[in-house]
Amino acid sequence: MSFKAAGFKQDAQFNRVRLSKGRNLKEHRSDFVLCEYELRPDVDLSEWDIQQVRAVHKYDEWRLHFICRKSIDPEPPGDETAGIDLGISNVAALSFGGESILFPGNALKEDEYYFGRKKAKCDDSRSNERLRLDRKRTERRTHFLHTLSKHIVSECVERGVGTIVIGDLGGIRDDNNGESHNWGNHGNLDLHGWAFDRFTSILEYKAEAEGIDLTVESERDTSKTCSACGTKDGNQRVERGLYVCEECDTVANADVNGAENIRRKVTPSPSEDRSNSWLAQPAVHLFDRNEGRFAPREQVVDCKP
Ligand SMILES: [Zn+2]
Repeated sequence: MSFKAAGFKQDAQFNRVRLSKGRNLKEHRSDFVLCEYELRPDVDLSEWDIQQVRAVHKYDEWRLHFICRKSIDPEPPGDETAGIDLGISNVAALSFGGESILFPGNALKEDEYYFGRKKAKCDDSRSNERLRLDRKRTERRTHFLHTLSKHIVSECVERGVGTIVIGDLGGIRDDNNGESHNWGNHGNLDLHGWAFDRFTSILEYKAEAEGIDLTVESERDTSKTCSACGTKDGNQRVERGLYVCEECDTVANADVNGAENIRRKVTPSPSEDRSNSWLAQPAVHLFDRNEGRFAPREQVVDCKP
């Protein structure tokens, strides 16, 4: 006898599985058997994605077969390291050390604005409409985050990245002084609370499928430190999203500088002899709503080191 999807419910904590006999016996009633099972000690079922349970009667006893799907750990694409800095105006900055990509959050902000206005037009008599709008907005955010993480992983695969380092979320909620960020003039964007936690777990899942490790590191000092020379000074972050180092005269995009510092936490790579111009000139990949994907934007160079 096979039980698929809705036909079984597993309770891994108590080693029990509920097998449904079906719902068509009587109206509004379902009938089931609750089975306790024993496992070999080296098997942890909670790690497995159970597709099907089969009950097999053999030698006068019932045995349960759990049919699972598990992918074989794939080989990592290489041993390079990428760093990711999460933020608000740029949802993510990605540094490969020598090359960088920014992912602006315009699409998310436009949605916040659009749905915020739509909702404001609904009075209480139209609460269904409000729910519908909330659901729609959540769907679009989720789609954005899935698309972004998929895109980042594919950029990493292309460059032979085996480890992605991402800044921990504490840094998103607090700025350097431990105070909350000002989230801008478009109302309460409320992006930080849920979106970044979710983004990190989606990214981890998609990276793992390609054999890439995701490591979370503290963002402490990553926005204050010059990624070119390592000088740390809280006063160096300047206007228009640029970081200027008074020690070595490096000009960097502030988010790229952060992403590179995060990357260095796992792979310290001195770059004394290398040009640092890439720090100031990230590629910009924008979300194209019609295409449903990210695509490079023509580069706008607004600073030169
Ligand atoms: Zn410097």
